[in-house]
Amino acid sequence: MNLYSGHINHLIDELAALPGIGNKSAQRLAFYIIGMSGERVQRLADALVDAKQHVHYCRVCQNLTDTELCPICADPKRDHSTIMVVENPRDLAAYEKTGKYQGLYHVLHGAISPMLGIGPSDIRLKELIQRLQDDTVKEVIIATNSSLEGETTAMYISKLIKPTGVRVTRIASGVPVGGDLEYIDEVTLLRALEGRTEL
Ligand code: ZN
Repeated sequence: MNLYSGHINHLIDELAALPGIGNKSAQRLAFYIIGMSGERVQRLADALVDAKQHVHYCRVCQNLTDTELCPICADPKRDHSTIMVVENPRDLAAYEKTGKYQGLYHVLHGAISPMLGIGPSDIRLKELIQRLQDDTVKEVIIATNSSLEGETTAMYISKLIKPTGVRVTRIASGVPVGGDLEYIDEVTLLRALEGRTEL
């Protein structure tokens, strides 16, 4: 016998398929949503569909944006000669929150992981190399996580870029090993950036 109606089970299954949401949380959310007014549920559903329809990757840095060029890439006051390479938009947001980094970014949307079968062509590396074609870029700061995948990715990118003559640096390892950048406080992030070393 099914505990809940088919419709509730369907909602629970969809929610439970999201990252970080276990079955218990999915049930809690499902019941909460059922208890919401029809108008609020519609707003939530619209927000999901709207975001999916309008958000895409920035043509240059691959960050998520509503416009063809994200506000950072489009800002002439930013230092267009420096690119910081991060694994995901959350890491970018962490550095933006410090308000001290003036350069541009490049979002890889992942990291190389031979164990998970994620190779260089599965992340947005080709797009990074394309950005180095003209000689505006003088330095690439690799700010991937200090996990095995992050280090593997950093090494790979460094080998790829070095022959082009562009300076390649790596943020300092003051960032705890295996630590996700987004959970690290601003002071540590800035120290990691200032203490970056040549690769
Ligand atoms: Zn951009």
